[in-house]
Amino acid sequence: MKLHEYQAREIFRAAGLPVPPGRVASTPGEAAEAARAFGGRVVVKAQVHSGGRGKAGGVRLAAGPEEAAERARAILGTTIGGYRVERVLVTPAAEIAAEFYAGIVLDRTVRSATVLVSEAGGVDIERVAEETPERLVRLPVDRRYGLLDHQALRLGFALVPDAAGARAIARILTALWRVFLGRDASLAEVNPLARTPAGEILALDAKLVVDDNALFRQPEVEALRDPTAEEPAEAAARAAGLSYVRLDGDVGCVVNGAGLAMATMDLIRHHGGAPANFLDIGGSSSPEKVVSAMRILLADERVRSVLVNIFGGITRCDDVARGLVAGLRERGADVPVSIRLTGTNEAEAVRVLREASLAATTSMDEAVRRAVELARERARTAAAAVPAGGGA
Ligand code: GDP
Ligand code: MN
Repeated sequence: MKLHEYQAREIFRAAGLPVPPGRVASTPGEAAEAARAFGGRVVVKAQVHSGGRGKAGGVRLAAGPEEAAERARAILGTTIGGYRVERVLVTPAAEIAAEFYAGIVLDRTVRSATVLVSEAGGVDIERVAEETPERLVRLPVDRRYGLLDHQALRLGFALVPDAAGARAIARILTALWRVFLGRDASLAEVNPLARTPAGEILALDAKLVVDDNALFRQPEVEALRDPTAEEPAEAAARAAGLSYVRLDGDVGCVVNGAGLAMATMDLIRHHGGAPANFLDIGGSSSPEKVVSAMRILLADERVRSVLVNIFGGITRCDDVARGLVAGLRERGADVPVSIRLTGTNEAEAVRVLREASLAATTSMDEAVRRAVELARERARTAAAAVPAGGGA
């Protein structure tokens, strides 16, 4: 679960990070009021679950209350990274001499939480990692001992040459480590970690992502959930008890079991296609779950074909078939579907599908190949439908 900057910065502040004060505003008037309260220059920042707000025009300086209102008016209601801006954060503008990066991520390749720092902060850190990896310092942390003082200090010296600055950064990294551990985070990040001309170190941005599987023991985090800021498909999937991850392809997938879902996505790639999502309907799927899954996929205009891949064990194929028929009926089947069903109550499932004029195969390979073909055909038809020289 992603938190908004204004939420993450309160958690960071409570842990002892040097976070400037801030106020959330949802109207230009409130933004002006906040700016008046702080006095002087302020920064008006879009609060959306997206990085790169600065580049998208979602972070703007304002000289005073009137300008703050103007900036808020320009930012509120716009869309950044696919998310509508409902609120802005108003914070006193810091003077910046240098921008660093500090983050803690779960690095699965080394099976460990890893602290990352870079003196090339403020910008997209993935790009730094790709183009100038030598400017990114990585330190995997052994959870038995945590981030040790000498390690934190060394990372501080990787960013600044003086002991006072390095110590300040070390304290920040130690506090960030406590947040990461204490909140079951998969990412805790400050970018930029800024140095002022006076040498003060400030956390000017705050990003915190908490592991969904730990939310049961993070009620304070769960309480911060903002349903309006989430991907609608992901929110709908969670409500329906489905495990769903949006991907960027065009073959929608309904699969039972995480392992089979991953194998399905591999096979889609193998046949030259691209999955639009990972969707696991789980073990004992009721028809309702399948209806919800179909609703989510068919509402996604990127989906050009739907692939259903069910290996019936505890899951009964006939339940899935009934859900499919109901789901397709509900939306009107304008998206082609390729179905593979095998296992428990397979014969009954085939009968239910046949009654609805749907065919099914027991071969996973055949169904996947068909789904990829169907998506490709649709892409071609869509391209042909665009008048020559035109296109949106
Ligand atoms: P992001 O683009 O979504 O990561 O948003 P950030 O909060 O990181 O802000 C983007 C950029 O705006 C930063 O890298 C800074 O260059 C600038 N910025 C943010 N806060 C301040 C501030 O208090 N003072 C100044 N001068 N610039 C700021
Ligand atoms: Mn940032």
